[in-house]
Amino acid sequence: MKKTWLRIPALFLCLVMLSGIAVAQEPQGVIDLEKIKSEYKYGDVLTFDTYGQLTEENRAVEGKDGVVSSQRYEASRIGADIIAKGGNAVDAAVAAAFALGVCEPNASGMGGGGFMTYRNGETGEIIFIDFREVAPGAATEDMYPQDENGNVIGNIMARGGKAVAVPGEVAGLMYILDNYGTMSRQEVLQPAIDLANEGYLVTAKTNTTITDAYQLMTDYPELGKIFLGDDGLPPEAGTYIKNPDLAKTLGIIAEKGAAGFYEGEVAQALVDAAAKYGGIITLEDLKNYQITVKEPVEGTYRGYKIYSAPPPSSGGTHLIQILNILENFDVGSLKFYGAEHMHLLSEAFKMVYLDRSTYMGDPDYVKVPLKGLVDKEYAKLLAEKIEEDKSKSYEVEDPWLYEGTDTSHLSVSDKAGNMIGITKTINYYYGSGVAVDGYGFILNNEMDDFSSKPGGPNSVQPGKKPLSSMSPTIVLREDGSPYMVLGAPGGYTIFAQVAQVISDVIDFQLPLKDAIKAPRIFNWVDNTLEYQDGFGIPIEKAEVDKLTAIGHDMSHYMDGAFGFIQGTLYNEDGTIDGGADYYADGVAVGY
Ligand code: GLU
Repeated sequence: MKKTWLRIPALFLCLVMLSGIAVAQEPQGVIDLEKIKSEYKYGDVLTFDTYGQLTEENRAVEGKDGVVSSQRYEASRIGADIIAKGGNAVDAAVAAAFALGVCEPNASGMGGGGFMTYRNGETGEIIFIDFREVAPGAATEDMYPQDENGNVIGNIMARGGKAVAVPGEVAGLMYILDNYGTMSRQEVLQPAIDLANEGYLVTAKTNTTITDAYQLMTDYPELGKIFLGDDGLPPEAGTYIKNPDLAKTLGIIAEKGAAGFYEGEVAQALVDAAAKYGGIITLEDLKNYQITVKEPVEGTYRGYKIYSAPPPSSGGTHLIQILNILENFDVGSLKFYGAEHMHLLSEAFKMVYLDRSTYMGDPDYVKVPLKGLVDKEYAKLLAEKIEEDKSKSYEVEDPWLYEGTDTSHLSVSDKAGNMIGITKTINYYYGSGVAVDGYGFILNNEMDDFSSKPGGPNSVQPGKKPLSSMSPTIVLREDGSPYMVLGAPGGYTIFAQVAQVISDVIDFQLPLKDAIKAPRIFNWVDNTLEYQDGFGIPIEKAEVDKLTAIGHDMSHYMDGAFGFIQGTLYNEDGTIDGGADYYADGVAVGY
């Protein structure tokens, strides 16, 4: 599995360090443009050792009133400033989410969708808001012509107008703000409007994402117009990108709410943009878009209570399934990311991903054995299949018997116990490539998350939501008090990454920021165990050799990270820790 959209270039962390942005309270220092320009070389990939030296102290924060951890400094800062002005975690999360659409537009924005898990500090109630994109009304199972081997011809599921599903982000963020926020739309949107007008920093990562997408930006000139410089080239690290068109669209939403996006001039421009590139999305599709408020999927892990994303995300269900399997073992007694620990994770992942491809889809369209998949007895059955010293292939089991390329994640917690995790996406970097001309935002390519094979649980149907892995997750202590919020981007690796960080904190008693920078592994249903060194913490060669000896096909993942974890954690004394992944632009800021 090689995911180019997660590759991190060399020296972008240098930029973070130089800019002095990763700080607890006030931004310090200025960006040394000359130094960045002389040192920055596109295409370099930081080694883990170099990563470790550069930013170790810069990512985490401890706050009292509230902490925001997101994938960009500007968004975390904007969210934290909202807390400082007296807003709650919801106000901060919505402000930061809109800001991410401005300064991390490759990953998410109002042309996409996502999920959020929210705990109301006052009532303790936990709700899940599904603002995933839906297939347009005119979508059909055979809308992507296939060759004789059943492969989709060309790239039309991923790029261009037919890749676009009906966006949900604006409806989702407006819903949570209207129902659980305390500030006005204008107050929470203004910082994002200012950021779009004044310009956001081009980090080395920003530069890489634009350079990697250079062909896309040429194929879709409306996209290139936003992100390429006047010379037609990707802007250099250390410069700024302004997006006044997006500021205008945000202003319309500030004034009119969700209707400003789903109806009127923005909706018309969106439909026209998609249609220009073969899209089938209509004004009616936009007008009909509805978010869904659901119960989160629930589980426990060694007494801690876990709440995460139900279908159409596969994330929360399989996250709990992984933890249920791990609970059958004394994980904390194993050598941390030693052979035994990685073997256990790898075998669990293989079985869980097999279940994912067999059973998962949009529950409004297919029956999903949800209770069975998160059942402790079912997990026990799977755990018993694991052999200590042999990497195995597994046959799928029947959970019904137990039935009784990219994304952004932000986590926010405040002193009142409001906790919110939002994972949102336009899918691949720069989504479908289709930008809405004059309005500054990019349309998703979420149709690519459907299976192209007709008749399966995740095949295309009008109005259906494509299967996701996004897992915004809340963890409470055994007594029900707030503990952690976390999540990550990373495509189908997401819940396997989130599960590891939860286990690292609970089983190995690691502080959240250390768990975020620990090594991680990934294993799909096949025998390839991919391992990613921690940030300055390499996985030992001797442990890798032991795993090869028992039949794992070991593959060193060196292209950055599987996913970037952003999380917050309440300490026993009520202070809040924030941690952000060391492999991306993420920073936690708090007060
Ligand atoms: N579209 C993917 C999903 O919904 C997320 C993509 C990513 O994280 O890179 O699971």
